This record gives sequence, C-alpha cells and structure tokens, in this order.
Amino acid sequence: MSGLALSDYRRLVVKVGSSLLVDNQGRLNRDWLEKLSDDVAGLAADGHQVVIVSSGAIAIGSPVLGISKQRARLEDLQAAAAAGQIQLVHSYQEALARHRIAAAQILMTPDDTEDRRRFLNARRTFGKLLEHSVIPIVNENDTVATTEIRYGDNDRLAARIAQLVMADALVLLSDVDGFYTADPTNNSDAKHIPTVRAITDETLSMAGESRSVIGSGGMVTKVQAARIATHAGCSTIIASGLIPNPLQALVDGARCTVFQASGTPAAARKQWLAGVLEVAGELILDDGAARALRAGGSLLPVGVAAVVGSFRRGDAVALKTSSGDEIGRGLAEYSDDEALRLAGCQSDQIEQTLGYRGRAVVVHRDELVLFDHE
Ligand code: GLU
Repeated sequence: MSGLALSDYRRLVVKVGSSLLVDNQGRLNRDWLEKLSDDVAGLAADGHQVVIVSSGAIAIGSPVLGISKQRARLEDLQAAAAAGQIQLVHSYQEALARHRIAAAQILMTPDDTEDRRRFLNARRTFGKLLEHSVIPIVNENDTVATTEIRYGDNDRLAARIAQLVMADALVLLSDVDGFYTADPTNNSDAKHIPTVRAITDETLSMAGESRSVIGSGGMVTKVQAARIATHAGCSTIIASGLIPNPLQALVDGARCTVFQASGTPAAARKQWLAGVLEVAGELILDDGAARALRAGGSLLPVGVAAVVGSFRRGDAVALKTSSGDEIGRGLAEYSDDEALRLAGCQSDQIEQTLGYRGRAVVVHRDELVLFDHE
C-alpha cells in the first residue's frame, strides 16, 4: 500500500497525546518516545522542519505529587504539570540527543497566539529555532493558565501552533487511526473516512463526543483543530500513535484520515492580511523600498520616508508610495513613534537610535501582502 506523502510537506507540527506517552501509573514510555524521535530525525535528515506539541505533563507529574486526576483541583493539576513538564521535556531532549538534535521548550498561553504582538514574537522565535535545526517541544503553560484562559486541550493548541509557524501539515497522533462516521469503539457500523475535503457541521456532528481516559481531547476537538489548521492552509492528519514509529508508519501506508487544506499557509495568511479592514496608520515608503517589497523583501527602516497615524506593534498599517498609492498592507513590527524615530536609519543603527535592541525590519515579508499592480 502506498503511504501518505509526508515528503509533500516541508514544515510539520506533530501532536503527541498523553495516552501514547504515559501509562496510567504516570510512567513514561521511553521506548516509544525514542522511536518517535528516530522518525523525527529521519524527517529532519530529509529536509523537513518539525515542531512537536506534546501532552503528558499532568499525567507524569500527578504520581510525583500523589494526586489522582479524578479528584484533583485546578491547583493540584497545575502543580502536577510543573513537576511533570520538566521530566517530559527532558525525556524528549535525551531521545533527540541520540541523533545529535537539540530540543527547545516552549510553553504557551492563548494570549501568545491570540494577541497579535505576542503572535509576532512567538512566530519569530519559532522561525529562529527551526532555522537552527532545533526541535521546539511545545505544551500549554498549565502552571499559570487558569480555566478561563486555557486552550483546554492540546489539539487546539497544536492547530494554533501550526497556524503560527505556517506549517503545511499537522499530524495529530492519538489512540485512533482516523476519523469515522461514528465512534468505532461502540459502533460496529462505523466507517473509516480516508480523506475529508471540507469540514462541515455534519463532519463535526459525526465526530460525536468520544473521549479517551488519559488525554482530555475527543474526536470533536480533533476535528475542530483540523478546521482551524485547514483554514490556515495546513492539511491535518489524524493517525494512530499506538504503534512504534508512528510517523514512519504513515509513510509506509498506515491508515489515517487527511483533512485537506484548501490553499497554502502563505496564501491563507495573505488573504487574511488583505481582508484586515482596520488599518491603524500608514507607512510611506521611498521608491527603493517599494521596489524591494515588490521583489519579495521586507520593509527596512531605511526605506521608511514618513509615518502617519497612531499604531502599536502588531497593528495593521497601509503601505503607501510617496505619491500616495496604497501598494499593500502589513503588520508593523514597531509602533508609530518608534517607526518615526527609525525612518531612514540603517539597520545597524537601530539599537543606538532606540536605546534598545529591536527587530531588524519594520514590516516582515511574511506579514505583508501587496496588491496587484500593473
Ligand atoms: N497540557 C496537558 C498536559 O501536558 C495536556 C492537555 C491535553 O492533553 O490536551 O498534561
């Protein structure tokens, strides 16, 4: 059987559910983790960039503190997560080090993906790690998140991360090998669906409310995650992690469900930027900068001729030529005040001009869209 062409995807986010990694005594399955790391190393050697979103902190930390998940209060779970996270990420670090691959820990709260300024910060950090071939190991920052401000489950977190890093594939590894017409654990007529082209309300209602005991997400949360990711141009794959080398198994033809993205991550991002209705201000570009942008570059401080309006880092701004034509839009890496001080500056003068170390660009090429022109 021919397998999933993971080779079509350059940047992958792999979500690992607690039930794959940790048994119900809180013991980590090192063997499985090492085999997963072997798969990740293989993908990296083939030129893929991989981000791992892993659950398991609470499951590992609970026995350390003598907590039973059923009776635990929020603060018990948060303390368990703190004790478990350090072991969890250390185990990944060790498993990946066998292949001389470095790991980095990133703990997220929803503000980091929902607030545009923090989104830009996080995106740049992920970008740098991947550029240096470091594997980010991501989890929710359970220790400080409270019920009202949580992603709640790592499926949703993984989808937001996929969007943040502009991944082209999100692989949700869990205890099921895909999406079925009904819950296969209690319905023998349930049929496996290999490909989903569009996620409708009917798809969501088919997902039902199945729940696994150790992790917190059911099929509904996976389909919701797939909806977020596919809208961001990222295909989503639900596959079983109950086997060793689950990513290699996918390549070799293991059963899974692929939720197909309609476009690419870059196209989805540009479409979103083009549709941002409210621009908070304007950056007037000199001719050289307008040419550089059209050639695919970022907007550097030296190319800013003037600044109009009042905006903060992360706000959308109009990009205009000196004759007043709006050639595009982008997210500002600086506030209006900072942009004004930097206007016309060489990039190596940024720190001296602002008095602190800033970003190299005023609008990054990934955060801007140009309108069609003659
Ligand atoms: N962040 C939680 C943990 O590491 C898991 C949440 C989830 O499984 O969805 O234990």
